[in-house]
Amino acid sequence: MHRPRWSLAVFLSLWLLAGLLPAVAQAYDASAVFDAKAGTLPLLLTVSHDGADFLGLFPHRTKGVTVRDVGTRELAERVADHLEKQTGRRPYLVIAKVSRRQMDVNRAEVDAVESAGLLPAYRAYHEQVATYVAELRARFPSGALLIDVHGQSYEPATTFRGTRAGLTATRLVDRFGPAALQGSNSITGILAARGYGVHPLPDAPTLREEPRFAGGHTVFTYGSHRPDGIDAIQLEFGRQHRADARLPEDLASAIVGFMKHHGLATQ
Ligand SMILES: [Zn+2]
Repeated sequence: MHRPRWSLAVFLSLWLLAGLLPAVAQAYDASAVFDAKAGTLPLLLTVSHDGADFLGLFPHRTKGVTVRDVGTRELAERVADHLEKQTGRRPYLVIAKVSRRQMDVNRAEVDAVESAGLLPAYRAYHEQVATYVAELRARFPSGALLIDVHGQSYEPATTFRGTRAGLTATRLVDRFGPAALQGSNSITGILAARGYGVHPLPDAPTLREEPRFAGGHTVFTYGSHRPDGIDAIQLEFGRQHRADARLPEDLASAIVGFMKHHGLATQ
């Protein structure tokens, strides 16, 4: 009578272990967490919220936003291709692969995951971003830029800038004034001149931003208000803009225009 129950217990234990072991292994495998590639421009593009993968059996997030920023991975990759066409050089890229339903890399640790088992994966993403930021600082003393690429659907025809009202681009604003963020040679200023709705508006009287999109964990962690940071701008592309086939080339042109005007090496 005892043998069948014992077998069942062994079977269940093995079944559970078989499920859990890959989960633990994957959490430590950086290639399951993000894609990363070093570049040659003083520019790092990060993509937080376009992942579709899940790490093992770890729980899904039950708090906070879990919607996917559809199209932002493709946008960053196509912008990288257009930058190469325009300058012969490529940006650095770090693209999260894990679904925001399980891990949100643009949140502080406490809000990013709902299982301590996912923290190594979360930390691996941020170690990669930090490594590239340190490399960019060393390689480009005249300045480097991080753009955290997002999407939003609240205002489909608007792209929002988030720098915590200029804070995460302190170095840029100190050197060139608020125009570096919203003048005619700023990234959103150039996009606006090409017909894209942007917020804040070009030449707005202050650097105040829409609170929902004012800059998240990534720009706040790596921005130039920190001694080891670089200028960091979050861009939240409206759904219509992400669906616009012209956006990748226009954004690449805007970035190149911005970099040339502000002394960031593009040649
Ligand atoms: Zn996002």
